[in-house]
Amino acid sequence: MDVKEKILVVIDLLSKNYPEAKCALIYNSPLQLLICARLSAQCTDKRVNLVTPALFSRFQTIEDFALADVDEVANYIKPCGLYKVKSQSIVQMCRRIIESFNGRIPKDIKNLSSLPGIGRKTANLVLGEIYGKPGIIVDTHFARVTKRLGFHKLKDPAKIEYLMKEIVPEDESIAFCHRVVLHGREICRARRPLCQYCTLKKVCNYYNGL
Ligand code: SF4
Repeated sequence: MDVKEKILVVIDLLSKNYPEAKCALIYNSPLQLLICARLSAQCTDKRVNLVTPALFSRFQTIEDFALADVDEVANYIKPCGLYKVKSQSIVQMCRRIIESFNGRIPKDIKNLSSLPGIGRKTANLVLGEIYGKPGIIVDTHFARVTKRLGFHKLKDPAKIEYLMKEIVPEDESIAFCHRVVLHGREICRARRPLCQYCTLKKVCNYYNGL
């Protein structure tokens, strides 16, 4: 089976396992998703969803965040960890959107990923979720699962993104990424993957000792 056939098999199996796969972060606007994604670094989506209602009630617009006192933002997001760095980059990000993009969130990967605290992972997530643009969202789960399946032997997220972009059909890409992440959280865990319950084992290099 070549890589193009294999990816179709994996896409098919994952879509059966996780038909409803979608972003677990709760948001109501592109700004909120950008901030949620920034908060989710080294933090669970569940915890992010716990702190954001109060945060988004206090600060509602890009201008609100741009004018915010960094320490006040930090207080709201403390449970997410790295709160000093995250609060600073959220305020700086909103100032930059106003100063460099006339208060509009960029809709392209180059400008979006140039914002403070926003890397390609978050930029691809926002472009896919909000604007329906195809993209590969590489987080730690995605990198691990796709490596075990045998699609690459890479560590660098940008290289994984470019490689997977070549083989995942564009119209499947965002849902595929969400499903891979779910699979990584539930079955293909970092420590002791639950291979006995995994429907992908027949095409998995790690399982088959390849
Ligand atoms: S067979 Fe095991 S290693 Fe392979 S994808 Fe499934 S859980 Fe992960």
